[in-house]
Amino acid sequence: MKKDVIIIGGGPTGSSLAIYLARQGLQVQILEKAKFPREHVGESLLPSCYPLLEELGVLDKMKTFSRKPGVTFSNKDGSQASHWCFDKVVDGPSSLSFHVRRSEFDQMMLEHARSEGVEALEEMQVMDVDLHAPGGGVLVKTLHQGSKEIEIAGRFLVDATGQDCFLSRKLGNQKRFETLNIRLALSAHWTDVQLTPSLANGNITIVHVGGEKSGWIWLIPLKDDRLSIGLAINMDFAQEQRKKLMKEHGARSWQKELYLQEISDAPLVQEVIQNGTMCWDVVSTGDFSYYAEEKFGPTHAIIGDAAAFLDPIFSSGIFLSLHSAKAIAPGIVTLLENGSQAEIEQGYKSLDGGYRVIEELISAFYDPNAINFPELSGSAGMEFAHMESAYTVYHMLLSGDFFNDCDRYLKVIQTLRDATMIEKYKNLKGHADPDAHSLVCAINPALI
Ligand SMILES: Cc1cc2nc3c(=O)[nH]c(=O)nc-3n(C[C@H](O)[C@H](O)[C@H](O)COP(=O)(O)OP(=O)(O)OC[C@H]3O[C@@H](n4cnc5c(N)ncnc54)[C@H](O)[C@@H]3O)c2cc1C
Repeated sequence: MKKDVIIIGGGPTGSSLAIYLARQGLQVQILEKAKFPREHVGESLLPSCYPLLEELGVLDKMKTFSRKPGVTFSNKDGSQASHWCFDKVVDGPSSLSFHVRRSEFDQMMLEHARSEGVEALEEMQVMDVDLHAPGGGVLVKTLHQGSKEIEIAGRFLVDATGQDCFLSRKLGNQKRFETLNIRLALSAHWTDVQLTPSLANGNITIVHVGGEKSGWIWLIPLKDDRLSIGLAINMDFAQEQRKKLMKEHGARSWQKELYLQEISDAPLVQEVIQNGTMCWDVVSTGDFSYYAEEKFGPTHAIIGDAAAFLDPIFSSGIFLSLHSAKAIAPGIVTLLENGSQAEIEQGYKSLDGGYRVIEELISAFYDPNAINFPELSGSAGMEFAHMESAYTVYHMLLSGDFFNDCDRYLKVIQTLRDATMIEKYKNLKGHADPDAHSLVCAINPALI
């Protein structure tokens, strides 16, 4: 029998969308090319995921992951750092977010979708689709376990293929966010590391790497004493280094050499890993920001990373996946009920403002003339009205509150790119308060 909705991709977007659709009585099938569990980058979740995970019914299963009370932005040697604790703006247990090993998280989500009535087939790579199949609906051509060709018919197709961007590549409608640069991301896991106090308390640490490298290093404390360390750097710089490192180390290991060279160049990271062991091969991921110009039609929709990807500096990806799934699901149900595209169009429109806020926030992070995040340390902000509001808004944004007051948030982000405001901020009495730099966020055991 024809499925109502075929979803390509069993990542967090595909699984969560499938759950929302199955709850509306639709027959949903996920086709996933990998055999789960499979590893993936993107391990640090925003607090705004919490209510969505609760609604999806997986909160109990999240308890196995490590908890995240906040974010620390640091310069390379750790002499300047700002700590952003979610409990300043979020009440109750959702102020404590999660860091997840993606192999476990994505498998748990897929299993949960199955438990809600979704059929999920692994090792089923979608090779081609016909969005106007004879007799209506869609026809999907798949390759099972790399050898067996199988055709599957459905009424509606969703592309949730992540950075593979299956449909927008096929339809040729992928565009770049022009304001954001292309970077290369390299990452690995470590054990036997020496955690800083804020890492030990569960904060993700983002180390700002300026100049021509124009990038950052993430340190994410996972469970089982694992630390995920990743690097995102300007692609032009990475390409220059590639030429040099390939000559010295050969074509196979230049990425590992570049990774080690750059993370060791940050004294803060060097101290953390000095007695550590790298327990993963270095993984490289493209990190450029793009969007699909047309995201839906009468028989298809594109969602999650397949629809748009923004530089992951603010850990926004999984929240955007879950939030988009919730926003788009009702439109798919309506379209299948009566053919109207008005609700799905409205669903996509509701996402625009939040994406603009994140794009601006990312631009501000990389703008060498804007105030830099490690400098934005706590207590000083309280003494100056504009900064007090900026300080609160930044907390809200770092918690993932992108969609609620977009225009106000855009104005506040502008404040931190305004030279006069920056001068005022830097001259504030009390800004150099040494305690502000040593504060770390704490995990309140009552909230676990
Ligand atoms: C360097 C980097 C760091 C990041 N850090 C964070 C972070 O800290 N926090 C955060 O929230 N987000 C982060 N992200 C973003 C996050 O990883 C993504 O937003 C998230 O994985 C998107 O989920 P998805 O389901 O849309 O795509 P994916 O998780 O990529 O899932 C897509 C699935 O589709 C399958 N697939 C692809 N093509 C086919 C096909 N033809 N047929 C069948 N199946 C197919 C794939 O195998 C995959 O399982 C980061 C991203 C990068 C690049």
